Amino acid sequence: MTIRTVVLDFDGTCTDVEIEAQGFLRGYKAGLASLLGVPDVDDAWSTWERKVLAAPSDHGMVIGGRMVAPPVDLYLLATAVGPLVAPQLDDAETERLFKENYRFTETAFKEETKEVVEALTAAGVGLHVVTNSDSGTVSAKLDRLAPAGRDGIRLHGNARKFIVADPDRHAGHARFLSVPETVSIDGWQRPVYARRGLYFDALQSIWEETDTAPAETLVIGDVYELDLALPALLGCKTHLVPSPRTLDYERAGVAAHGGTCGPLREALGHL
Ligand SMILES: [Mg+2]
Repeated sequence: MTIRTVVLDFDGTCTDVEIEAQGFLRGYKAGLASLLGVPDVDDAWSTWERKVLAAPSDHGMVIGGRMVAPPVDLYLLATAVGPLVAPQLDDAETERLFKENYRFTETAFKEETKEVVEALTAAGVGLHVVTNSDSGTVSAKLDRLAPAGRDGIRLHGNARKFIVADPDRHAGHARFLSVPETVSIDGWQRPVYARRGLYFDALQSIWEETDTAPAETLVIGDVYELDLALPALLGCKTHLVPSPRTLDYERAGVAAHGGTCGPLREALGHL
């Protein structure tokens, strides 16, 4: 089926988080040290980071008691390591620290991003950037990238793809309920929670507005659980843009639904 709608993640998909997040990470660690009343947290951070990376299915972003994202980029790693370094802080404190320091994030587009975005807008598909990040921040970055067709790009910020829906919220919504609550993937020691309610709402609003369907939709992202698990189960085509931190279960999860994995440019092969 012809692709008519493209849903593009932003951080890590269009940008290089490894570069962008350095200022954030410095600020986040300094904030932790200051809350703990110590000069720095470097040693504790390194120790816990090693433990987290050695057992990634045991660590990650936890929301409402469920682990909803693996530690596969510097932001997600900070959400996993921070609370281990400072267990005496409550969730609200670490979340505030995260938000306070997100403003130190820099802008580092991948080399091929402009070319790929221009190819997508030129292909006549509806291009929708759906991101957990703040709309204003992402919009300013897109302005700076200044691709041809910029005005046609629709932006959906604060998507909160990490939120798992409570069962009542989508009661009676057949498309949503066709998605299993969890999926298990060989070699990954915990369930993947597939029913991301707010992400679904964003996708559904795109389909209603554009009169297109999941089967006509290509979703491009860099974190399988946040960006691609739900769309793949809804019948979308998916493309995972890997980083050196991408885990094998993410490649397996994407491949299980016929998705592809490779540099951003290779997503164009779906058109
Ligand atoms: Mg991302």
